Amino acid sequence: MEVTLLMSVVAIKPKTSSKKDTTEGKIFDAIIIGGGPAGLTTGIYLSRARMNTLLIEKALPGGQAILTEIVENYPGFPHGIAGPELMQKMEEQAIRFGLKIEYGEVEEVKIKEDKVKIVKINNQEYKALTIILASGAEASKLEVPGEEELRGRGVSYCATCDAPFFKGQKIVVIGGGDTAIEEALYLTKFVREVTLIHRRDRLRATEILQERVLANKKINFAWDSVVTKILGKEKVEGVLIQNKKTGEKKEIFCQGVFIFVGYIPNSKFLKDLVKLDQKGYILTDDNMMTSQEGIYACGDVRKKILRQVVTACGEGATAAFAAQKYIEELKGVSYK
Ligand code: NAP
Repeated sequence: MEVTLLMSVVAIKPKTSSKKDTTEGKIFDAIIIGGGPAGLTTGIYLSRARMNTLLIEKALPGGQAILTEIVENYPGFPHGIAGPELMQKMEEQAIRFGLKIEYGEVEEVKIKEDKVKIVKINNQEYKALTIILASGAEASKLEVPGEEELRGRGVSYCATCDAPFFKGQKIVVIGGGDTAIEEALYLTKFVREVTLIHRRDRLRATEILQERVLANKKINFAWDSVVTKILGKEKVEGVLIQNKKTGEKKEIFCQGVFIFVGYIPNSKFLKDLVKLDQKGYILTDDNMMTSQEGIYACGDVRKKILRQVVTACGEGATAAFAAQKYIEELKGVSYK
């Protein structure tokens, strides 16, 4: 196999914006940071409420859902819907109602004395009366030798992006949650054999996924085991695993290593602006308001118990409604 610098490291190219001249300088009603399901839903609701809203996205709108082959549990699609298709429709819907989208990585968010919020991207400042943080989360690293060095050379965090590179090969998947199981199942359409390595003897994934993975003949399991090293010089050649119960170490030959061991929230750019939990997830009240007046959070970056497209959308709608009330109060709009 030719494993050159490939895979998801280069698969997602940021879009570039063409609207800088029209969006910079003015004060928006709202700026949404992040274009996944939470951010796009917020955009749909705020734009329909005729709030002048800008969404800032780092790469492609769609968030992690864009990397999902099929979303099976979003209501209204009895046979599921492809993640990219669902997200493209959400983007189209938001734009149709007037949402503006700007591309760039947010460097900083500040609040001025007059309550105007400033978002800095690409050395430019964008102003708004309210901010909605929907910056999502990104794949956790395993933090073992070989992982960083062989990233894009057999180490991947995205089956949908990279599976075709491993046609007919032997790979390992690490993790026991919904993501690991969904991705392992997807990978079986391409690869010869999958070894699923999980640190316990029970999967965390939802039952229906467990049934499917346990019935799949292409998948075998290394239970109670952790990967201690990813082997290979130019490309992945195997992993070293250790059984946590017996202490036994062994090498597994493989050409690909897919790591799905949870996510970390994209909240570093906030510094001390809003209250976070120990893991960096944003704390909000029931109306999605953070510890800072006029700043809301929704989706995977928020501390909560269930991370799904449907919950992200629900939170996005709530955040939009709460933000709209806040904006109207600031503007002195009264319904009496
Ligand atoms: P997750 O639920 O946090 O699971 C992470 C898995 O990785 C767990 O099995 C965990 O083991 C294992 N793990 C964590 N750190 C590890 C380490 N250092 N070494 C080895 N294994 C490690 O993460 P996820 O599967 O990415 O899911 C994230 C959220 O998205 C969840 O709420 C999930 O339900 C949701 N999601 C939903 C869907 C869907 O509904 N279709 C699809 C994908 C994701 P332990 O079990 O021992 O902790």
